[in-house]
Amino acid sequence: MNATGKDDAGKKEADLDPDIAEYLDEIEPEQIHPNEIAWMARFVAPYLRPYRALLGVLIVLLIIDTLINFSFPLVYQYLVDNGLVVRNWDVVLKVLTFLGCAAVAEATCGLSIDYVFSRVASDIMRDLRLKMFNHLQTLPMSYYNEARTGEILSRFSGDLVAVEHVLVALVPWLILPLLEVFYSATLMFVFNVWLGLLGMLLLPLVILVPRLFANRAFALSYAKRAQEGGLLSAVQENIGAQTIVKAFGQQQRASRTFAGLNSAWLGTAFRFNFFSTLVERTAHTGIYLMHIAVFALGAYWAYVGEITLGTLIGFEEVFLLMGYAVTHVTQFAPTMAQAAGSTHRLHEFLNEPPEAPDREGAVDLPRLKEIVAFEHVGFQYPGGIFRIDDINLKCAMNSLVSVVGPSGSGKSTILNLLLRFFEPESGVIAIDGRDIQAGTRQSLRAQIGIVFQDNFLFNTSILENIKVGAPEATFEEARAAARAAEIDDFIMGLPQGYETPAGERGAQLSGGQRQRLAIARALVRNPAILLLDEATSALDHDTETAFNVTLRKLATERLVISVTHRLASAELSDQVVVFERGRIREIGAHEDLLQRDGFYASFWRKQTSKPNKRPARGK
Ligand code: ADP
Ligand code: MG
Repeated sequence: MNATGKDDAGKKEADLDPDIAEYLDEIEPEQIHPNEIAWMARFVAPYLRPYRALLGVLIVLLIIDTLINFSFPLVYQYLVDNGLVVRNWDVVLKVLTFLGCAAVAEATCGLSIDYVFSRVASDIMRDLRLKMFNHLQTLPMSYYNEARTGEILSRFSGDLVAVEHVLVALVPWLILPLLEVFYSATLMFVFNVWLGLLGMLLLPLVILVPRLFANRAFALSYAKRAQEGGLLSAVQENIGAQTIVKAFGQQQRASRTFAGLNSAWLGTAFRFNFFSTLVERTAHTGIYLMHIAVFALGAYWAYVGEITLGTLIGFEEVFLLMGYAVTHVTQFAPTMAQAAGSTHRLHEFLNEPPEAPDREGAVDLPRLKEIVAFEHVGFQYPGGIFRIDDINLKCAMNSLVSVVGPSGSGKSTILNLLLRFFEPESGVIAIDGRDIQAGTRQSLRAQIGIVFQDNFLFNTSILENIKVGAPEATFEEARAAARAAEIDDFIMGLPQGYETPAGERGAQLSGGQRQRLAIARALVRNPAILLLDEATSALDHDTETAFNVTLRKLATERLVISVTHRLASAELSDQVVVFERGRIREIGAHEDLLQRDGFYASFWRKQTSKPNKRPARGK
């Protein structure tokens, strides 16, 4: 039928079956830093800045909390040695009162810490997510051409969630336990220098060995997250391609491809999870060994009277505290490791270069008055092989220009250039003699309306769908646009008129009605330039003819450039531009081109000799 359709199908098919090995090769960790934790802290730091005041409160609370906790083992020692052993009831009462008050204070403090930090963590996540979304708005079309939707989405879902898990758990699972490790280590020395030293001697065992595994897990987490992004992309693609999958009986092949990606994930995920748990396991074992050694020595010394019973009990309390604290930190390791890879992916995404800013001193382009000109324009898609060369074209205001030619000849490409989705390599595109690159993109796009072959209708009313083109438009303006698009009568005939839901009813709108709605959406912007890209390609012959008559009328107040591989609109247009393989092959009025009897004429004869239309002219 039409070659574009076939191209699209071919593209989707190829995407369904990505070369797994090659894809996995592409997953290169951004850089795995020797000190991942410090790196992550640096990534998060800028997001903390706005909450400095709250964080200050948090630090004060943490210090109070630490001091209270610090006192407990010392008080125990005092209670045993000066209260219980010598049977001094006064001391016992004093100590118990202190412990009761301290417990209440500690609980209050802990609660406040949780409150403040939950608040800050949620604020940071909101800021980060918003920053990512805003970044998405600044990325150039070339990014969207190459990126896979699932890949982008996975950064918003899995990766953000992984970072959130770390943030939310940061205080209870890392900062508080680390403070505990610090003060319990200090206390051990307070109780007995030798026991303290013995404890310290074993501490490297608890830190260094688990660290080895932690580094492995950190390094693997990026690959794991990247593969998860790939899996999500595959699912998303498969959902979008279901009609093709079903019609071409590709279910098994899709499953095989997915199984391949999934198995590759298994290898990475298994190693990641195993190393993550080894962190905790080895730390746990280390603590266990330390405990036995220290306790054995302490018990012996208490037995021979070298230290008091209170010291042994106090020391034991401290040691358990430290043990718990270290275990806490190590249990947090898998969460940290998961987030390490995710942080890199977020960082990578936020570092995607945005659309090049407007030139220095760019001014607002005045509205088109006379002419849009392409002068010696040459361009090649980044990473692509297709190129257009030496495009020279003048499109006058208040005229209808048809850009025709075979599929893939570069017609849509010139619209991409005119909209500045891409910038030409050479040559100039000018509006009334002013290079569009010297103006702001915003002022350029504000005077352009565009209609595609497929126009997305949002799940709101017809009115709202028209107002997408100009959100601030009044009802009357929207209606005027609909009238110009010759769809007002139809809409008014609907029971709910302009309030009819377009999403749900969208399916009931005919192809021609959808296209007219799309034109109304473009017209409500009151564009000086109306672009149509294959806007009639999905319409039947009669609808297309009526539509082209509308276009002809619209071209009395603006420049209309209609890009199509079908020639029906060419007959009505002021100027026909014929593209072939990235070059303008012929240019002129329809009649002249027919008389020239060249490329266009034979193209025309081929299309008009289709059984649904008798040859209009020709020999
Ligand atoms: P058409 O005349 O059908 O509108 P296009 O201008 O869309 O043709 O495309 C011309 C050629 O440029 C095609 O071969 C297509 O594969 C290639 N192309 C189109 N868009 C891109 C892109 N974003 N990146 C790389 N190549 C592209
Ligand atoms: Mg095209």
